[in-house]
Amino acid sequence: MNGKIALEEHFNLPEFSVPNYVNADMMREISRRLLDVTTTRLAEMDAAGIDYSLLSLNAPGVQAEPDRGRGIASARQVNEALAGIVAAHPSRYGGLATLPMQDPAAAAAELDRCATQLGFPGVMLNGYQNVGDAATGWYYDHERYWPFWERAEALRMPVYLHPRDPLPGNQGIYESHPELFGAVWTFTVETATHALRLMTSGLFDRFPRLTIIIGHLGETLPFNIWRINHRASYMGDLIKFSKPLTHYLLHNFYVTTSGNFHTQTLDATIAEMGADRVLFSTDYPYESMREAADWFGNAAINDNDRVKIGRSNSEKLFRLRQLVAA
Ligand code: ZN
Repeated sequence: MNGKIALEEHFNLPEFSVPNYVNADMMREISRRLLDVTTTRLAEMDAAGIDYSLLSLNAPGVQAEPDRGRGIASARQVNEALAGIVAAHPSRYGGLATLPMQDPAAAAAELDRCATQLGFPGVMLNGYQNVGDAATGWYYDHERYWPFWERAEALRMPVYLHPRDPLPGNQGIYESHPELFGAVWTFTVETATHALRLMTSGLFDRFPRLTIIIGHLGETLPFNIWRINHRASYMGDLIKFSKPLTHYLLHNFYVTTSGNFHTQTLDATIAEMGADRVLFSTDYPYESMREAADWFGNAAINDNDRVKIGRSNSEKLFRLRQLVAA
């Protein structure tokens, strides 16, 4: 399928180090590709039939900056640089904002600036926010973030919740198993749990029009949501949310195909959430655009769903039609 839109597509700036997620040879090539927005990336997009990519800063980015002042300055610098990249390639790239979640009020203000002045159609948050030191993390269900979420809802800015590795104090179960870190498994557990914290905190009762996007075909949540909700219904006074968890998954979440190029999993995700809630993405440069596109183009789904997932759902969600046509 040609004309696709992709939205978990990472870039980097030289000031941000790249964590070693895979072997050294692969990381060298990934680091090179993260810095490129003019040559290899555009050729790969052309070869994969991807018209338009929403770019986001490589994880963990500003979410790993424990200092409030540096976080605010750094997010602004990233967004300015990204706005420059988008301005140079307006028909190929859009931007997902980087935000200083060390300071919820500053994050809301930068969100506003990115939406109204830089023209970004959404946000990328790379997991919990470090605050003070690397051992301390803030998750976004806390009420300190309500003003931020209120602004995101009012601006209709979808927020992509991207993985990062768990806090040092939460890594005990992986002792002696470093091979399970990153995209192998720890990303999934961390991100699915963070998404469940948002749901069970009652956030979507307070802000019912909020939109969260999670990658990798939903980080196992479409597969597990029935059981999670079933057992949560027995938790009595611990329940702080008003609707079935399945309701939030279907009304407040979208999932992308990033890094999960498997038709059985896509079928299960469509069965649970519907094709209107699934968006094509690759997770470049950690994954291959061509592998993603070859799989997606040939996956045994109907062509109506393929067009929705490959392009039209993203056009609607991010209000991109005019941008892409420009
Ligand atoms: Zn990613």
